[in-house]
Amino acid sequence: MKLSAFGQKFAGQSGIVSLMEDLGTALSDNPDILFMGGGNPARIKPVEDIFRQRLQAILDDPDKCHGLLGTYQAHQGDKAFMEQVADFLNRQFGWNLSWRNIAVSNGSQPAFFVLYNMFAGQMADGSQRTIHLPLAPEYLGYADAGLSDDFYTATRPTIEYLDDNLFKYHVDFSKLKLGDSTGALCVSRPTNPTGNVLTDDEVEHLDAMAKAADIPLIIDGAYGLPFPGIIFTDARPLWNDNIVLMLSLSKLGLPGARTGIIVAREEIINAFANATTIVNLSCGTLGPALMKGFFEGDEFLDMCRTHITPFYRDRAMAATQWCREDMQGLPFHIHKPEGAIFLWLWFEGLPITSQELYERLKTRGVLIIPGQNFFVGLRDDWRHKHECIRMSYAQDEKTVREGIRIIAEEVRSLYETE
Ligand code: PLP
Repeated sequence: MKLSAFGQKFAGQSGIVSLMEDLGTALSDNPDILFMGGGNPARIKPVEDIFRQRLQAILDDPDKCHGLLGTYQAHQGDKAFMEQVADFLNRQFGWNLSWRNIAVSNGSQPAFFVLYNMFAGQMADGSQRTIHLPLAPEYLGYADAGLSDDFYTATRPTIEYLDDNLFKYHVDFSKLKLGDSTGALCVSRPTNPTGNVLTDDEVEHLDAMAKAADIPLIIDGAYGLPFPGIIFTDARPLWNDNIVLMLSLSKLGLPGARTGIIVAREEIINAFANATTIVNLSCGTLGPALMKGFFEGDEFLDMCRTHITPFYRDRAMAATQWCREDMQGLPFHIHKPEGAIFLWLWFEGLPITSQELYERLKTRGVLIIPGQNFFVGLRDDWRHKHECIRMSYAQDEKTVREGIRIIAEEVRSLYETE
């Protein structure tokens, strides 16, 4: 098979593909493995019940069912749905959006692909631009999404020690320099993999820098506000004409609906809608159908506040406590869990690499993600990259409790035999 440069880059092996393959093989070889590696949201019964009832109501109505299964949506998305999203965001945050500021995509992942390649890579004048991640570690799913090589750059964070075990990353503004080759800034807030929530000051500072450089600031709110609300701090969402806010229905419990929502100024929305039409033709109907009308009253936010936020907040606190108990005496640190669905563990001076730790844990029946994969765009030789792991705490309590026990046991044996 003769492949184009695009074919070679995308059809071949990449970091994210090998990791996903390895996780998939481990799961099929051992279906009982304690799976703390993926990004699946938790099963929260009252939330599942609500979405099942909403789906049933659609299926019981022949016209709605036809709308769900038998029609293409307009290329930017269903207008009534986009109006509801805009009104909802305006009500929550006092923004001034119309449906023209909204686009719908088949999950936020492909929307990142389109947006990133709109702003970075080879520019029309032949120059090269990169997507800059102001704070790495960042979401692994961004890696390999560029059509050209060396697509990302990143800034190494500063580390604040909060107590014996908790720490927090901050954007190192003394090192963050934007040049002509930066095409956009992107941060996830809360951050996958660390659970960090950039402070309001940090976001405002990034916003000011992006404006001064005349490039967009992309804020990935997959876990954040106003939904699904997996955020445990008082962070304030920010949007203006220079910000592209990416939202998703996935972490509400609907990753199968593949619905992303892009909030941006009209010029960006139009460009995005044109580009995504070439790849997708139209976006899926399931997410918008399930959510239509739900944005209008208080019921939707009540669901997030009553069932989703407390579930993850309680679980984050419990998982942190279990780590403190089981890892006592080890040189371990946990990134302060401020949101998202993961604990980010840092084993200072780990005698082996996090990749080797991942392999060992796999043989012991626990799947986590080795940390070096998340330092997208950071080319420094930094030992810290190989000392961290990400574990999801969204699985059932027994899995998380047992997984932490095994991780602690394995890591303790490494330090003891050093
Ligand atoms: N952004 C972040 C930070 C994520 O963790 C994920 C998925 O795990 C995505 C984006 C992509 O989500 P989706 O394509 O399901 O909307």
